[in-house]
Amino acid sequence: MKMSNALIPTLRNNPAEADTISQQLLIRAGFIRKSAAGLYHYLPLGMRVLSKIENIVREEMNNFGCQELLMPIVQPAELWQETGRWNAYGAEMFKVTDRHERQFCLGPTHEEMITDLVRSEVNSYRQLPLRLYQIQNKYRDEKRPRFGLIRGREFIMKDMYSFDRDADGLDRAYWDMYQAYTNVFNRCGLYVRPIEADGGAIGDSQTHEFTALAEIGENTVVYCEKCGYAANIEIAPCPVPEVNKEKEAQLPLEKVYTPDSKTIEAVGNYLQVPAEKCIKTLFFQADDELICVLVRGDHEVNDVKVQRVHPCFALEMAEEEDVVKAVGCSFGSLGPVGLSKVKIYADLAVEQMVNLVCGANEEAYHYINVNPGRDFQVAGYYDLRMMQEGEPCPKCGQLTSSARGIEVGQVFKLGTKYSEAMGATFLDENGKTQIIHMGCYGIGVSRTMAAAVEQHNDENGIIWPKAIAPYHAVVVPVSVKDEQQCAIAEQIYEALQKRGVEVMLDDRNERPGVKFKDADLIGYPVRITVGKKAVEEQTVEYKLRAEADSVLVSVDDIVEKTVAYIFS
Ligand code: ATP
Ligand code: MG
Repeated sequence: MKMSNALIPTLRNNPAEADTISQQLLIRAGFIRKSAAGLYHYLPLGMRVLSKIENIVREEMNNFGCQELLMPIVQPAELWQETGRWNAYGAEMFKVTDRHERQFCLGPTHEEMITDLVRSEVNSYRQLPLRLYQIQNKYRDEKRPRFGLIRGREFIMKDMYSFDRDADGLDRAYWDMYQAYTNVFNRCGLYVRPIEADGGAIGDSQTHEFTALAEIGENTVVYCEKCGYAANIEIAPCPVPEVNKEKEAQLPLEKVYTPDSKTIEAVGNYLQVPAEKCIKTLFFQADDELICVLVRGDHEVNDVKVQRVHPCFALEMAEEEDVVKAVGCSFGSLGPVGLSKVKIYADLAVEQMVNLVCGANEEAYHYINVNPGRDFQVAGYYDLRMMQEGEPCPKCGQLTSSARGIEVGQVFKLGTKYSEAMGATFLDENGKTQIIHMGCYGIGVSRTMAAAVEQHNDENGIIWPKAIAPYHAVVVPVSVKDEQQCAIAEQIYEALQKRGVEVMLDDRNERPGVKFKDADLIGYPVRITVGKKAVEEQTVEYKLRAEADSVLVSVDDIVEKTVAYIFS
């Protein structure tokens, strides 16, 4: 490709609204353009990267016996009603109505569609196992589309679904995909950690998230260097702090005036008590019900764990006005004492507390010397908090560390959840009807592209891993007005192409500084600069994007050297 004919609209400055490095660089380097919130154009360079990721995914899927198909994006509401997800999926679903008033959605995922297909095509054990996948746009009306391709409302996903005769078959499919995903992300040059994750409210399904470590990641990974334990903080079990209750005698409950003390910190300062002696009282809206959750003042509530003990479709922090209506007091002075009508769940650490502080459900008043069990009752004590940095590993007791990461893929044992709801069955060897065991496995293809940029960049631009770079190399004639330089550049360009190197020729009539800046920004793994020395000494400059220094290489050797690097 010649740069003079290409649509590669690079920008000198960061676009104002771009909120992450990957979004800034992908826009600046001319890979993507925003159309509307969470909706992006993939420009030619972006498209090339996507295709490379897709092909790696394809190869790995095919190697593990998966077959590619393509299902409609537009999906009939009736299928989603069969599994109860038409309503349960919530506001993230894009719904559309056709001219006959029939309802459809734009597929956010395809479990219903594929189960419908398989139940009508499969009826004998002889047709199983099956592994079917597609690579396609998905649609989710995300509450907060952000970070460019990382959280889009239209994005590209590879979704695979496995169908097996029994749980053992599903187990094989699951671990095959675990391996395939490990291969995919390794080949894409991503540093990824598979972590144990939340299997959802229905059963304790096994699932791993493949998390690309990055500062901007929305997931927190808790891991142990010693035994290799790694989990999403959402599910990491917390140790229960040991407190010797016998040691501290329970004192009489007392209500005290606490002006201008609306946070744990302010109350603690005012009453001169540490945060671990205070209760944090939070209200959640669990579908239609208001519930109350208590954690120790220095702990953070973990809503995935809350949702496990109080199953519901949607769990969100309650609106202050709803709490005022129910309790008669605003945020800042809430507490469990005397709280009726609302279900209270408390963290296990709260159960251990003696003589603690909490809001009195009266503006500017708190209780002191509150004792759980004596002064208030709860529906149950559970592990409801986030693990904190340095707490012991649940497997081996060693201290854990944590890191941020972007979920780029997930493998999930669905079991018989969808096949049972939709009647996807088969006849076994004895002619008996059995339910199919299913798994689902997703990779965010467009998100992977952004995650790769988050992991591979410097102050000058993107540093693409070789396997997913839009082009392997760029050839830059320093002056396009010099015919000899141009002829040598052209000759190297053609020779590289013949050897299968994907190469860009920057034949634009621009200053060399501009071309070098663009080459760095776009992130070609190899840059070959053809200047005066090419004409005078038959040497060109060879520079790897990932390294600081360049070397002079003779025109005769440059093709071999580039080929060796790219295909090594
Ligand atoms: P998240 O927790 O980030 O919302 P998810 O768990 O809902 O993701 P899955 O349903 O498991 O996502 O989808 C499979 C893969 O699709 C994810 O691992 C992720 O890489 C990608 N993905 C999900 N939502 C988006 C999105 N809004 N934009 C881009 N990629 C996404
Ligand atoms: Mg997921």
